[in-house]
Amino acid sequence: MTLLNEQTELDVARDAFRIALLDAGILIATSSPGIYGRSAVFERILSGLDAVLTDMAAPLNATTVRFPPVYPRADFERTDYIASFPDLSGVVSSFEAGDREHRELLSARERGERWDGWLTPADVVLTNAICHPLYATLEGVQPDRDGHGGGVWDVFGYGFRHEPSRDPMRMQSFRMHEFVYVGTPDGAQEYRDTWLDTAMATLTSLGLPITAVAANDPFFGRAGRMLVSAQLRENLKIELTVPMYVDAHGVELHEGTAIASANCQRDHLTAAFGIRTADGEVAHASCVAFGMERTVLALLRVHGLDVGAWPADVRKKLGLA
Ligand code: AMP
Ligand code: ZN
Repeated sequence: MTLLNEQTELDVARDAFRIALLDAGILIATSSPGIYGRSAVFERILSGLDAVLTDMAAPLNATTVRFPPVYPRADFERTDYIASFPDLSGVVSSFEAGDREHRELLSARERGERWDGWLTPADVVLTNAICHPLYATLEGVQPDRDGHGGGVWDVFGYGFRHEPSRDPMRMQSFRMHEFVYVGTPDGAQEYRDTWLDTAMATLTSLGLPITAVAANDPFFGRAGRMLVSAQLRENLKIELTVPMYVDAHGVELHEGTAIASANCQRDHLTAAFGIRTADGEVAHASCVAFGMERTVLALLRVHGLDVGAWPADVRKKLGLA
């Protein structure tokens, strides 16, 4: 089988899953690929899953914080997101000029031309990873929350990534629930490894066939290729994947889709945001991130679109019984 054929079969499988979700009314289509409405059923599963994750994380004694889906452009500048992922970024623009420019904008619009040239970037950007606005608020010396020089935060919210796709697993706007450690270098590594195992056990208990794989972020361009190889070499990112698409003979058409990731960020963002531990050292960070929409879709894939027919123990765990 050629690669082209494989891709085509995979596309067909992705289209079939998306259409089945739309036909069942679980997701609601919009005119933009990867932007969906969610039904009550979808949200009930997502809330149940979120409760499971919150229970899982209870021993962490995390500090819970929530941020809106936009955050300050000045903070975005301190991450290197625009250098590493320009193609995934989303910057908010608005109109800041006067009446004359507004008339020009409206004339261009009337002629069916683009009018966004009259807008200027606002002081907010769309949040790409929900841990970024958190780091931006932790500047300075952090108190020793866990008695070992570190602490954990629980963050949940919408992230934006400009990656329009026909695959319902790849949305442009989706929710993440992250458990973020900030503390010592050893603490960050140990946290990532321990909570990777816990995350895997939790997702497996919901009937999901999980595989842990070494992974990389999709860094942009030629400079990005070096970052990819460093990330893989140093085993900084591990993804928990689920096989979503098979061919007519049950053979998997891809290597699985990541529904969660466990990341060692070392001092990458903590240095950028000037975050220090109680002993004055630059803090290290690691995070375990759950993709909420992807996990709900994986559950629907594995257990079927009729939630009433899901295994009783899974329904019970998710509070659907
Ligand atoms: P990442 O920060 O890239 O590791 O993303 C964290 C989690 O968010 C991933 O493991 C996925 O479950 C989820 N995720 C990432 N990109 C998308 C997307 N385009 N659509 C839906 N979920 C996503
Ligand atoms: Zn994160």
